[in-house]
Order: sequence, then C-alpha cells, then structure tokens
Amino acid sequence: MKIFDRFDGTLTRKQVIISLRSIMVTLSTSAIIEDISSEAAQNLVAKQREFFETRQTKDVEFRIMYLRKLQEAIRTHENEILRALYNDFRKGEFEGYVSEVGFVLEELKHTLKHIRSWAKPKSVSSPIVVAPAWARVYPVPFGVSLIISPWNYPFQLLMAPFVGALAAGNCAVLKPSELAPHTSNVIAKLVRSVFPVEYVSVVEGGVATNTRLLEQKWDYIFFTGGTEVGRIVAQAAAKHLTPTTLELGGKSPCFVDKNVDLTVAARRVVWGKFLNAGQTCVAPDYVLLDKAIEEPFLAKMKETVREFYGDNPQQSPDFPRIINDRHFDRLAGYLGDGDVYVGGETDAAERYIAPTIMRNVAPEKRVMQDEIFGPILPVMTYSRVEEAIEFVNDRSKPLALYVFSEDKTIQRKVMENTLSGGGCINDTVTHLTVPGLPFGGVGDSGIGGYHGKHSFDAFSHKRSILSKPSFGDLKMRYAPYAGKLSFLRKIIG
Ligand code: NAD
Repeated sequence: MKIFDRFDGTLTRKQVIISLRSIMVTLSTSAIIEDISSEAAQNLVAKQREFFETRQTKDVEFRIMYLRKLQEAIRTHENEILRALYNDFRKGEFEGYVSEVGFVLEELKHTLKHIRSWAKPKSVSSPIVVAPAWARVYPVPFGVSLIISPWNYPFQLLMAPFVGALAAGNCAVLKPSELAPHTSNVIAKLVRSVFPVEYVSVVEGGVATNTRLLEQKWDYIFFTGGTEVGRIVAQAAAKHLTPTTLELGGKSPCFVDKNVDLTVAARRVVWGKFLNAGQTCVAPDYVLLDKAIEEPFLAKMKETVREFYGDNPQQSPDFPRIINDRHFDRLAGYLGDGDVYVGGETDAAERYIAPTIMRNVAPEKRVMQDEIFGPILPVMTYSRVEEAIEFVNDRSKPLALYVFSEDKTIQRKVMENTLSGGGCINDTVTHLTVPGLPFGGVGDSGIGGYHGKHSFDAFSHKRSILSKPSFGDLKMRYAPYAGKLSFLRKIIG
C-alpha cells in the first residue's frame, strides 16, 4: 500500500521542499480551530450527564456495540489517519501504523475479548462477624469523563484511554492536541461518524478550550501531557474532587553496563531514542554508560544510526520532523551543551534535527535539566554503577528506566535501588505494548496507569456492596453491649 505518492523516496530535494511548504500552508489553515465558550462547555457536560443518567451505558452489550463500531470506523479511516500523522510531522506509514492505529486496534481487540469478564462483579470473602453475607465489588462507570491528550502520538494517546472509558461505560469528551491539527480533525470526523454527541464528543482547540473544559465538574479526568500542565489539571480537578489519571513526562535514564551485547544494546537504545524523532514520553532521555565500553558503544551507536537512517537521515522516509518551531528552537539550543558525536545537523525550514548523540555533557547544562523530547541523546559515563544510581535518585522520578546488562546482579541492583513508572531490562519502550502491564508514572511522572484491563479499571469506580439475608440476625451486634466484648475478642483473636 502506498498512500503518500507525493513523498515516496524518489523525490528530489527541491520537490520535497516545495511539498513541505504546501503542507505548512495546509497546516496553518487547518490549525484555525475556534475555542469552545464556557457556556458551550457547560452545556456539553450537562447533555452528557443527562445521557449518562438514561443508564444506557451501564449495559455491557451497548458498550460492546459501540466498541465494535469504533473498531470498524478506525479500520475505515486508517489511510486518512496515517496521512494526517504524516501531514502533522512527517510520521512515516510504518511507525504510524505500529505505534498509533495498530496499537489502538490491539487495545480494542483485547478489550472486546475480555470486557464481559472485566465488567462482572467480583465476590470477596467476608469476615465471620458479618456472616451470613455476600460481599461483591461492582465495577461501575464514573459518569462523564474528560480525556486530554498531547501531540506526540496524537491518535494513540487519545484513543487508547478512550477505549477504557467506553469499555467501563462512561460518556466522554475528547480533547485532542491542537499541535497535531490534521490528526485532531480526523479524530473529530471519525468519532462524529460513530457516536451521538451526548455520548461522546470531540472538542478541538488549544489552551483556552482546555481551560474552559477544566472549569467544568467532571466525574473523571484522564490527562496525558507535560508535568507542568499536569499540575494545572490536578488543581482544576481538586476543586471538584474529581479523580484523575495523570500520564506525565520526565527524563528517562538508560543504564548501559559493560557486560552487554554491544550490537543488540546499541540497536535497542537507538531505536527507542529516535523513534518518532525522539518525541516519545518513554524514549531514553539520556544514557548512563559504563566507562569501560565508552568508545566501542558510542561507535556501535554511530554505526546503528547510519544503518537505520542512512548517510543522510534527512532523506529517510522513517525519520519524522519536530512538531513546531518552538520545539525546534528549544532542541536546536541544546546542541551546544556538549560535544556532538553523531548528527547535529539542523534545517529550520523543515524543522529537521538529525539523530544526534552527544558526549561530554555537564549535568548542569539545560539538555540534562529539561526533558529533551527530541532526537538528541546525551551520553554520560560512570565508573561505578552506584554513582549512576545516585545520579538518577537525585532527580525527579522518571516515567521509564532502562538497564542493559547481561549481569543479573547489575540488573537487580539498578532496579531495586531506583524508582520509575516502569521500564525494561535489555530493551527500551516495549513495556508499554504489554496490556497486562499498567502504563504510568510515579511522582513527577504521573499518577495512575492504564492499558488493557488497567484502562477499564482506571475508568471504573469499584463499588463495594455487602448483601445480607434477614435470617441469622445475631443480637450480639446490638446494644446493650454488656458482657459481649470478651466473646467478640475471642472471635477476632
Ligand atoms: P502539554 O502538557 O503541553 O499538552 C497536553 C495537552 O494539554 C494538550 O491537549 C494541550 O492543549 C493542553 N494544554 C497545554 N497547555 C495547557 C494549559 N496551560 N492549560 C490547560 N491545558 C493545556 O504536552 P505536549 O507538549 O502536548 O506533550 C509533551 C509532554 O507530554 C511531554 O512532557 C511528554 O513526556 C508528555 N507525555 C507523556 C506521556 C505519558 O504517557 N506519560 C505520553 C506522551 C507525552
């Protein structure tokens, strides 16, 4: 399947520049999205609450019907979604499918397979003091949920939590990122083709829209984005005591011990870092490298970058661009923070930054203070792994942490003495593809987790109900209590 005829690898550089300019014109026109008014936001929530009160979403078969419709619509719009991702920041077809469309289809498949069992009440044992009784946990929907997503995986990061919200029986308002306007438009179109607005709505817009949405009283808020905006969301939620999941960012370290398979470790680090041009929340932000293999590992990474993206990565169909000028300028500003070992080339007209590896970077430099979120990989060295562990523990708790080592003692030492949302041993990024693993952060990198059943759980209130028959009513529990305490002590032990 070839959907980007204008941009296959055979185009000349001039043609590519002309085409990119036309993309930018389209981008600037489609980026004009009117922000929602406070009144409209209020009406929307009221309408959804009214719909929720009809109890239709409580029926699991109703949810399944809509999950199937969503699945069908995504399949139907697949090419449009991939084209939108390309138009937003030149994300290639393979990455677009694997990390966005395919990922969400997998979530849907998994959810449809298990939803009936997830939605069933679960019995738990009850203590003898309340016997006879049946105690059950009922997963029930919170009600009207708000899902806010960032631009870096603009389809997946909105739709994956949305699958959980639907499966759990919630109504939802979806707020895609304004920085990926083509994808935002396709999502709006797709969702409107399936759902009545009182059940699910897409509200496009930027900060003003989000601010007005956040002023409303929601039953659940699921936010993915930066830590600073996460604080704004948490404050807005606190006003109404709304429960939240906060999927935030941070600097994810990657330990590379001397005892590794150099080729495989280099491949997996380079892949995880330069995927999506480094604009991945769980990308290895920086490498902590055992000094004993500094030169061979750096050389291996250099060779791997060439193997993946060719002599000129700017020509590679697999290497995306930076999302906007602000982020391009920010990232270009880091290039002076150390010695560039690989890459370092930039092209502002295309918002291109080459896959870059830096060495000799001082920890106080900006590139080692900020979350990089782009194709720049600083490499710091250590002589003892304890130093590297201390370095990580002196900073905010990361979203992901990676360790490459064939030595189980090192693997254990790193994992047991650090804390992160999640991570991998001898790999990067792939932990988030396992539906059984809750994906989320800890501390500054977030609160809560999702994917698979964890998404269903995130959007479900666990309602605890004890049911008792009228027979066997022990007088023991009622006043007067005189003489009953010693007996109770014996039962409780
Ligand atoms: P962002 O926080 O700037 O934006 C996220 C959303 O919040 C967008 O929809 C945006 O419109 C809205 N927003 C922005 N500023 C706001 C404000 N002042 N008030 C209210 N709403 C506001 O994040 P981004 O730049 O789109 O994405 C990059 C960040 O997201 C990185 O820090 C990255 O690590 C993080 N991220 C985390 C995950 C995760 O799963 N934990 C995944 C992807 C990205």
